[in-house]
Amino acid sequence: MVHETGFYDVLGVSPKASADEIKKSYRKLALKYHPDKNPSEGERFKHISQAYEVLSDPKKRDLYDRGGEQAIKEGGMGGGTSPMDIFDMFFGGGGRMQRERKGKNVVHQLSVTLEELYLGSTRKLGLQKNVICEKCDGYGGKKGTLEKCSNCKGRGVQIKVQQIGPGMIQQIQSMCSDCQGQGEKFNSKDRCKNCNGQKVERKKKILEVHIDKGMKDGQRMTFQGEGDQEPGLEPGDVIIVLDQKEHSVFQRQEEDLTMKMTIKLVEALCGFKNTIQTLDNRTLVISSEPGDVIKHNDIKCVPNEGMPIYKDPFERGKLIIQFQVEFPEKDWLPKHLMFQLERLLPPREDVMLTDDVEEVDLCEVDERTQQRNYSKEAFEEDEEGPRGGVQCQTQ
Ligand SMILES: [Zn+2]
Ligand SMILES: [Zn+2]
Repeated sequence: MVHETGFYDVLGVSPKASADEIKKSYRKLALKYHPDKNPSEGERFKHISQAYEVLSDPKKRDLYDRGGEQAIKEGGMGGGTSPMDIFDMFFGGGGRMQRERKGKNVVHQLSVTLEELYLGSTRKLGLQKNVICEKCDGYGGKKGTLEKCSNCKGRGVQIKVQQIGPGMIQQIQSMCSDCQGQGEKFNSKDRCKNCNGQKVERKKKILEVHIDKGMKDGQRMTFQGEGDQEPGLEPGDVIIVLDQKEHSVFQRQEEDLTMKMTIKLVEALCGFKNTIQTLDNRTLVISSEPGDVIKHNDIKCVPNEGMPIYKDPFERGKLIIQFQVEFPEKDWLPKHLMFQLERLLPPREDVMLTDDVEEVDLCEVDERTQQRNYSKEAFEEDEEGPRGGVQCQTQ
């Protein structure tokens, strides 16, 4: 029984979400609200990270489901890891040690279609990045003209003394604004005009991203050393994360593709032929023989018509088809012809009625009642499985 759902709400998933769904949602939200992309959403980024830290760990998730945020705090399991570390661990950015010698990694999401993952494709991505200034070689000005900052006397920090009460003095130390904490600066005439003394300049760089057949939603590609350049630091990496758009027909389940196919009652009972347009634009014909019966929600598959296997693209998964049988509408057959149809169908069983039975009305279920019963049921039952809401029983 789930009491509190705050962490689930932050990630926009249901309390019954699978580990994969939680991962996927974190991936999308963390990239969207990362301070690099969305500096005003720092709090939100923190909340997303917190929620993910708990829900991605089965033990913590279980504790949270039983006792909420309170239980996490009391169990000493909350707030251990910084949002940035969680992000770096997730996207493979290396630890803090590495970050000191290396520039920051930059993570970008690349939206791809299911067709691109099926066929493979090459995409060109234009990125803005800092590169060492060509004019001054990252020095910032004319060689040998760097002067000690007169404002901070080379210390890089300013100290302000403030009286905060009778006899009480507070010293506030802050970064020197004249030299940006460097302790040294260029005279305006010696400063590099190209980078304005910043040592780096913004440049556009085109990355070619090769999407291989069979790659998956969420898969990462690392472009080593393509991150921002900074003098004295090894540049960080650019990490591209694939984000698959929903497809109108197919859903992917690992190497299999699934789809729904609606057939008419006559087709379900008397056989059919139907076509399927594949992701590489071939037309497949599937058929069922007269005498085969396809029931509503029956599942069949076509071997080797699923997704190509990554790094083994001549092998493919299955195409799984879930059939939806469309029943005719009310009064489709004139009443006087009903008996003919009944003669052809498997016979019904007679119902024995005794004297003490009660005859009641059979009504349509109204939407609101159905919704309420549905959510009640969802909390009472723990097993996964299809749930169609309340069904009106006729027998
Ligand atoms: Zn200074
Ligand atoms: Zn320069």
